Amino acid sequence: MSRALVLLGHGSHLDANSSAAVRAHAERIRAMGAFDAVRAAFWKEEPSLARAFDGLAVDEIVAVPVFISSGYFTETVIPRELGLDGPLTERGGTVIRYTPPIGAAPVLASVIEQRAIEAGAESGDAIAVLGHGTPRNPNSERNVYLQAESLAARGRFAEVVTVFLDQEPHMATVLERTTAERVIVVPLFIADGWHVGESIPADLALEGPETRREGRVLRYAKAAGTHPAVADVILELAGGGGGAGEGGAAVPAWLSAAFAARAPFVLGELAVTFDDAGAVVRAPGGGREIDPAAVRATVRVDAAGRYRPLSGEFGLPGGWWVRCVDPRELGEVLETVYPLAAVHVAQEAAGTLRVVELEAVLGRQSGRYGGVAGATPEQRDAAISAVCGRCVRVPRWGAGVSGVREGVVIPCPEPCGILVEDIRERVAEGRTGKGAVREG
Ligand code: SF4
Repeated sequence: MSRALVLLGHGSHLDANSSAAVRAHAERIRAMGAFDAVRAAFWKEEPSLARAFDGLAVDEIVAVPVFISSGYFTETVIPRELGLDGPLTERGGTVIRYTPPIGAAPVLASVIEQRAIEAGAESGDAIAVLGHGTPRNPNSERNVYLQAESLAARGRFAEVVTVFLDQEPHMATVLERTTAERVIVVPLFIADGWHVGESIPADLALEGPETRREGRVLRYAKAAGTHPAVADVILELAGGGGGAGEGGAAVPAWLSAAFAARAPFVLGELAVTFDDAGAVVRAPGGGREIDPAAVRATVRVDAAGRYRPLSGEFGLPGGWWVRCVDPRELGEVLETVYPLAAVHVAQEAAGTLRVVELEAVLGRQSGRYGGVAGATPEQRDAAISAVCGRCVRVPRWGAGVSGVREGVVIPCPEPCGILVEDIRERVAEGRTGKGAVREG
């Protein structure tokens, strides 16, 4: 039986770090060779949740939400975007198994324990499990308490308490809620993002890894969600591996054929040529050779160091080229630069590209995006012109704008999150004019 693993993350339009841990867990599991394909997909980044399964021709897909809380995202947004019926969905001969989020797996407590020990925790210390929490959703606290209880049950530390960033009991009361001389605060967060790196240390007035206060010691651990052992938690939720173990997404046939024929092509702003040693992928300007593993860091920020959330945005950071020794490596480099582009090219050629119109995408939004369905035609057109007008992909959903039409055309089968966000901002601001709401 062939199996694929898809990790589902939140991601961010604003911060490259937000998805880094989820991508690292996917790479770790891919390297284990336990699945036929391993992929990460995101609410706010590419590849998007809505296209998470595109091109995965396997018997079973296991989809694991890399989220701490069970709630709005895991119970509403993800099932809706992925079209899931519940824990088990059957689609075109593939069984899709949707697991609880990693925050609901009691075994995650062992990772919290490891983070605490790495921060110097000993048996007589108190551990404060720090969750995000929110007064708007009482469910968001549930898994944080579950993890604290699981950690306490392991019996390794004198005290275990639960505190929150955005609800009671607040993290500012951590010393009042514990009696041990030393308290180790472990952030139960997925990413080393703004909260873990900046807002929490600032709000707790931490002075570094160790802070002395009122005759006691506060130590601050790294985020639990970035620990490499989270990959084991994901594997446990997924029920282990069990695929044929090739360890990466299948290479689309057109790409393998181009490699075999040594047939050069252009994809977006990349030029692919071949020589005796394999393929050479060249960004605009050529320049220096880089390692395939360095491509993501190279293309996700612009020359000024700003994050580029839209992978297809014209102006791909250039001055580099990379050598790929086989079709799989070539596929991985292209996937890094233009997620799912090679798959969508193949599907369009085969007549199987699933196209979703703007109306349907706007109509299924909820929460803070619920108002986008009421966007006026002028607001929609202005957003399409401002966002899709700077993208190499060519919309197949009737947008009336064109990307790069030379070389291998990259079809866009569905309005992306960047476009939806732009429409949301126009609606929120009551804007009708043209031009970008926000660059970058
Ligand atoms: S919706 Fe527009 S901006 Fe987004 S990927 Fe498609 S063509 Fe590009």
